[in-house]
Amino acid sequence: MSDSHDSFLADRLVWIPGVGPRKAEVLAGAGLCSVRDMLEHFPRRYLDRTSVTRIREIEEGCGEITVVGRITRCGLKGYSRRQRFEAELSDGTGTLNLVWFRRTSWVRKALETGDVIAASGAPRVYRGWQMQHPAFEKLLVDEDDTGSFEYNGQVVPIYPGTEELRKAWLDSRALQRIVSHILKDARLCFPEILPPDLVARLALVSHDRAMREVHIAESLEAVGLARRRLIFQELFLLQLMLALRHTERDERSGRPFGSEGDLLPRLLQDLPWPLTGAQQRVIDEILGDMRSPRPMNRLLQGDVGSGKTVVALAALLTAVSDGRQGAIMAPTEILAEQHFRNIDALCAPLGVRVTLLTGSRKGAKRQKALQEIAGGWTQIAVGTHALIQESVDFQDLGLVVIDEQHRFGVMQRASLRRKGEDLDTLVMTATPIPRTLAITAYGDMDLSLLDELPPGRKPVRTEWRPESKRGAILEWLREQVLEGAQAYLVYPLVEESEKLDLRAAEEAYEELRGGLLAEFDIGLLHGRMKAPEKDAVMQSFLKGEIQVLVSTTVIEVGVDNPRATVMIVDHAERFGLSQLHQLRGRVGRGSDRSWCILIAGRELSAEGRERLETMARTTDGFEIAETDLRMRGSGDFFGVRQSGVPLFKLADIVRDRETLLLARDEAFRLVEEDPRLQKHPLLRSWIDRYLDEALQRVAD
Ligand code: ADP
Ligand code: MG
Repeated sequence: MSDSHDSFLADRLVWIPGVGPRKAEVLAGAGLCSVRDMLEHFPRRYLDRTSVTRIREIEEGCGEITVVGRITRCGLKGYSRRQRFEAELSDGTGTLNLVWFRRTSWVRKALETGDVIAASGAPRVYRGWQMQHPAFEKLLVDEDDTGSFEYNGQVVPIYPGTEELRKAWLDSRALQRIVSHILKDARLCFPEILPPDLVARLALVSHDRAMREVHIAESLEAVGLARRRLIFQELFLLQLMLALRHTERDERSGRPFGSEGDLLPRLLQDLPWPLTGAQQRVIDEILGDMRSPRPMNRLLQGDVGSGKTVVALAALLTAVSDGRQGAIMAPTEILAEQHFRNIDALCAPLGVRVTLLTGSRKGAKRQKALQEIAGGWTQIAVGTHALIQESVDFQDLGLVVIDEQHRFGVMQRASLRRKGEDLDTLVMTATPIPRTLAITAYGDMDLSLLDELPPGRKPVRTEWRPESKRGAILEWLREQVLEGAQAYLVYPLVEESEKLDLRAAEEAYEELRGGLLAEFDIGLLHGRMKAPEKDAVMQSFLKGEIQVLVSTTVIEVGVDNPRATVMIVDHAERFGLSQLHQLRGRVGRGSDRSWCILIAGRELSAEGRERLETMARTTDGFEIAETDLRMRGSGDFFGVRQSGVPLFKLADIVRDRETLLLARDEAFRLVEEDPRLQKHPLLRSWIDRYLDEALQRVAD
């Protein structure tokens, strides 16, 4: 690695000819501060001859096309309201008229005669060929007078930009000019960071070549090879980081749990049912971890209703048997309270002391809970994530169980560990995660699967119906309740606004209470209620005093009433697939036949429809998760920030699935051979930098 290369990468852009202080400032505003930022600002797409149509070859009804040419003439035409901006584009094979009726003053400033542009749009015949309001990019193309218009056989990169950049005339062409200037600098020389034999075996182009040709290349094939290399590198570096973290745990030693104790056997004896084979297997995996000096870092994946709670309790009791404390955290207060009730009920006969600590416990109650935990009276603490985030003092915490909803991704956990946590950790996900995402967001953890539902469950029958059937559905609901069923009626989030959300549920509640369901007891549950109120409603629902629970999405995760057999979701198309799967998981928990009815609103998009059809087709959580990931793309899957999935610049775990799996294999193999990367110091230093940056991005 050369020092001049490194210091050049860190150079500020203000030194680049043609940038200057004002433009440098605008660039910085778009996150482009240094030479390196600029080189890592990759093109959004590329234009080459094969994707460009010659004007002579335009055909009627050809749809959207891209034409590259020079503006031979342009200006405003017409007066006042009929005013328009016209530009004549010529590519040597013919001319095309570009017309703007809106934003004319902007285009007038953006385009001038002589500019070479790529214009995209659907041409139509109007005094020759015309394109209205085409999207366009100015291109940096050398003069070429070979008659027909060509741009030297080069692939033209189109850079993503912002409105601010464009306002400062920093369009794609300007960015290309800056980048090509940078690429000509003699100091630039990207070191080969990947092991040479890996590069050879996978036939990757070199790092330096890839970084150049991703910007400026002779052919689309060259661009493809450059991108392939860089995408692999991105995925490989993350997997290497995960692999390192996975093996580093081998070298740390926590305190192994030793004593057998009789708490767990007694718990199992008290349960009204035997464990499923999967529960037994997973508990063995967990106990194996806990008894080894290597700190446990395990992810438990199990579909809704697969019985994760008792598995968590088995782990917690193992910690308690050793005289240490365990903590279990849930993503919401309702869930924390439910865990508390269930766990306390199971622990009381064993003489195990459980304390609840949530954000809404204030004042004296909170003080008491804190003292119980700090003084060691508490053997199992139950709470929301605040339990560890707020630096609650434990006397001797041995195990943390995180019951989560994809809210605590790899980067968040990394920052947690930096605080010095070296505990046994068990993370439980509320729904299955597609494999590609699991090995990305949770790739440093050991994996356990609860792939078997308790016996006797009948799959929930799922149907979706249009809004016009709502009356008939509620009529049907009435009959079900008359026959003794308990039901959930869920109303969705309206435009992310909790207020409106609440109103929809409240209105429905009032209407049903005064009308169709007047003879029953109906409860209302929403996120704005105080904890004791929520608790009271949940309790009456569990006891069967309430037959119908009208609710916003607060019940989404984990609420467990085995006697509820009907789930009706209104405006179901507004929910994501994993949310719907969660909601459906609230029923079908007992041995009675259960129903899930999804009511679709009037404006049903094709995607909304596909979601509802997926739900009706399958109850397999893994299949639903895969569909969800495919439909939404990785960026959107859980909300990137929430999931803590690292943000890739080029890679996409859905599209690049095969490359991801390859990168994972290669990374874990390398770390197995060389656990500290002693033979690859350069790679090691890149990983450290990569991790720092990723953590920084999560913190931002
Ligand atoms: P989840 O995995 O969704 O957290 P829970 O732990 O809440 O699932 O369990 C769902 C329901 O199944 C609960 O009512 C629980 O008592 C019951 N259950 C758990 N394990 C078994 C089992 N082995 N046999 C029968 N019922 C079980
Ligand atoms: Mg649960």
